[in-house]
Amino acid sequence: MSNSHPIPAGIVRVSLLGAVNAYLVPEDDGLTLVDTTMKGGVKKIVAAAEKLGKPIVRVLLTHAHDDHVGGLDALAERLPGVEVLISTRDARLLAGDTTLDADEPQTKIRGGLKGARTAPTRTIVAGDRVGSLLAVAAPGHTPGQLAFLDERDGTLICGDAYATLFGVATCAKGKATFPLPALATWHKPTALQTARDLRALDPQRLAPGHGPVVDAPGPEMDRAIARGC
Ligand SMILES: [Zn+2]
Repeated sequence: MSNSHPIPAGIVRVSLLGAVNAYLVPEDDGLTLVDTTMKGGVKKIVAAAEKLGKPIVRVLLTHAHDDHVGGLDALAERLPGVEVLISTRDARLLAGDTTLDADEPQTKIRGGLKGARTAPTRTIVAGDRVGSLLAVAAPGHTPGQLAFLDERDGTLICGDAYATLFGVATCAKGKATFPLPALATWHKPTALQTARDLRALDPQRLAPGHGPVVDAPGPEMDRAIARGC
């Protein structure tokens, strides 16, 4: 488990206390910021982008929980004209609508859902491409979570489908040492299926919302899936 050497595509992890992550993804037209951490993380994100010498041109959100969208309003103020992208499904959560669709498991959506004043400039669905990133369905933690596979180097930015703090775990079955992602998970059987689907992509490295980037994560993903939900 290491985050000490560079990721080939140049993705940079920005982390609050090693626990809450955002990622800067270099593209030809600037940087895509994946997730925003919390309001207090904005300064660190902006400083990391300045160090890379490229502007943040878009903010891409894995899901609508507070620890992923909490910096969005402050960033949108600092970056006029920035593109803001989230799944069509989780855009409803971002806008404060926590209702369920008739064809979804009728379980209350969990986790911090204060939403944001900033509206997405565009909503996306699995299969869409955002620069070098392919959006992959990752429901379960929230109904509309997306993961993003960098097709240049096989890095999977997985939101909270997996966490790696104190070891790799799915959000269907958290670690006793870091139970938060599992506690904030809407529907665990769906989350477990997502964990399997993401494993099937055979990522070269796993870049989670919480914890360090893990290289060659396949065996650890397998063990996490085997723990069930
Ligand atoms: Zn979350």
